[in-house]
Amino acid sequence: MAEIQLRNINKRWGTFVGVDNFDLTIGNEEFLVLLGPSGCGKTTTMRMIAGLEDATEGDIMIDGKRVNDLDPKDRDVAMVFQSYGLYPHLNVYENIRFPLKVRKVDPATHDERVRRASAMVELDDFLHRKPAELSGGQRQRVALARAIVREPNVFLMDEPLSNLDAKLRVSTRAQIKNLSHELKVTTVYVTHDQIEAMTLADRVVVMKQGKVQQVGTPTEIYDRPANTFVASFIGSPAMNLMEGTMSGGTFTGDNVSISGLSAPDGAATVGFRAEDATLAETDGQITAPIYTIELLGDATMLTVRAGGQLVSVKAHKEFRAEIGDMVSFAVPAGICHAFDSSSGERLA
Ligand code: ATP
Repeated sequence: MAEIQLRNINKRWGTFVGVDNFDLTIGNEEFLVLLGPSGCGKTTTMRMIAGLEDATEGDIMIDGKRVNDLDPKDRDVAMVFQSYGLYPHLNVYENIRFPLKVRKVDPATHDERVRRASAMVELDDFLHRKPAELSGGQRQRVALARAIVREPNVFLMDEPLSNLDAKLRVSTRAQIKNLSHELKVTTVYVTHDQIEAMTLADRVVVMKQGKVQQVGTPTEIYDRPANTFVASFIGSPAMNLMEGTMSGGTFTGDNVSISGLSAPDGAATVGFRAEDATLAETDGQITAPIYTIELLGDATMLTVRAGGQLVSVKAHKEFRAEIGDMVSFAVPAGICHAFDSSSGERLA
């Protein structure tokens, strides 16, 4: 049981600001994902919670208690990293048991706890093996079991899936989700992978250059991005963003005209997601030549060149056409997002 409060946390090295005024309460049992591109300050934020990095300013509270001055070992947090950090000379059983020994947990309880943790990550049959005799996915599960066995108040996970191949990443991700549901331990999870963030998180914190851009549920962040950075970081393909001019509720840009938007007159950025637009027979809001056609299996992704901008739309899986053919698609105001073109902040 643990609530984590981060009160106006700053991290600076000299004049460089690594984390800028991070202010958030992470609820008890919440699965919070810190998401953003390389260097945005996710790992530093997590390391400050762990006690591996000092905050330059601000208070870090775990269950109402200020922990800034507590050593990592006294914070009751367990960490899982992308490099598994296993002891090569110890077998799986002893690796999982290791934190119990270090913490001087009653030896009479070790066997039961190790077996329970290893069963949770389906390693029961591998307890006698050394790390070198395991696959990457199995090693990562040992690292997870070693965190679980401690029964900590908080899990901190830093890109735990990034060394796994694509298929293992999906299955281990599902396992982490399932474990978090079972264990109900407050978790802070760092990733630069938006799909991992969307699938695992109760709430996502999107960061850029040390600053929080938006905090919300995956649905809120996907459906109402706070700015163009979040809009283009979340979703695959990224949200289509078009530059143009608003006048009397009508947006006009290269090969595009959309009426009925509520945004002030002047320069604007208007966005929509590829799956929200539909192909029109004629007279859609965008008419432009096809630039690429990608068969996805369940759909066909068309990208058109609208003046200087590429815009994608998801078409039916049986849609066929040639590169260069003109297509038109419907982009009603209702599916559009409007942003201030200079600040990038959401307008409507
Ligand atoms: P990645 O996904 O690449 O791990 P990240 O979002 O986790 O990135 P951080 O590791 O938190 O990023 O780093 C944030 C910024 O702080 C980066 O620009 C990094 O270069 C800088 N930084 C990290 N540690 C130090 C340090 N000890 N001294 C100076 N700058 C640092």
